[in-house]
Amino acid sequence: MNLDWREVVTEWLKTLDPNRADKPLYVLDSAEVADVVDLNGCYGVTGLSLCATCRPTLERLGLWRGYSQFIMILDVPRTAPESLLSFAAHEYVHCCQHAELVTRFNNLMGETTVAATLNQPYEHLIVNWERPRPWHDHGPDFGRLAIHLYHRARRLDLWVSLHDAWATNLYGLPDAKTFADALGDEPARLLYLPMVEVSQTPWPPEYKQFSESALREAEETFQHERNLVR
Ligand SMILES: [Zn+2]
Repeated sequence: MNLDWREVVTEWLKTLDPNRADKPLYVLDSAEVADVVDLNGCYGVTGLSLCATCRPTLERLGLWRGYSQFIMILDVPRTAPESLLSFAAHEYVHCCQHAELVTRFNNLMGETTVAATLNQPYEHLIVNWERPRPWHDHGPDFGRLAIHLYHRARRLDLWVSLHDAWATNLYGLPDAKTFADALGDEPARLLYLPMVEVSQTPWPPEYKQFSESALREAEETFQHERNLVR
């Protein structure tokens, strides 16, 4: 990947989501934040407190333009150039899904309540302590946005792999293409809607029906496999 990879990724995402609220979009290489962020073997990551964590790095690089929900870390050296945009799309979907939560967190920055906010996810995890489903955070809600980004990219002749952006086989779900078929013409109809707003509109009936059926089957498989290991 050449030196302007950051510009390529950020410009590409801005092109796909031009009407996004005017929030800064940050993309960092994992090597730039190796001392504060652990990718845990993933190709990319985004998260609730990431902007606060990475603020010193962003300032050092002259990129800081205020808190934003749109921030992602990519493992640039380990990623094939042709896959980088697909993984960026994956993280961008997470940014859109959790935009409101991250905005609330960012609004608290500098206040004493930050520590309490930081602790909340962990308390939540302990209360609901159970092995998460494989599709947790990567279910049809996530996939719908990935399909929209994929469609927007293809329309502009920009290359992105739907499978890299939403690797459904990792999440116990049917092929992403079957979800795309069920979504029908929605990506074309909502082409100019900011992605955050797409995430807030109800699923089309056919997509809802297909997704619910896929999740039922995935749950059955999950339960079956869990019984086998008991
Ligand atoms: Zn993810």
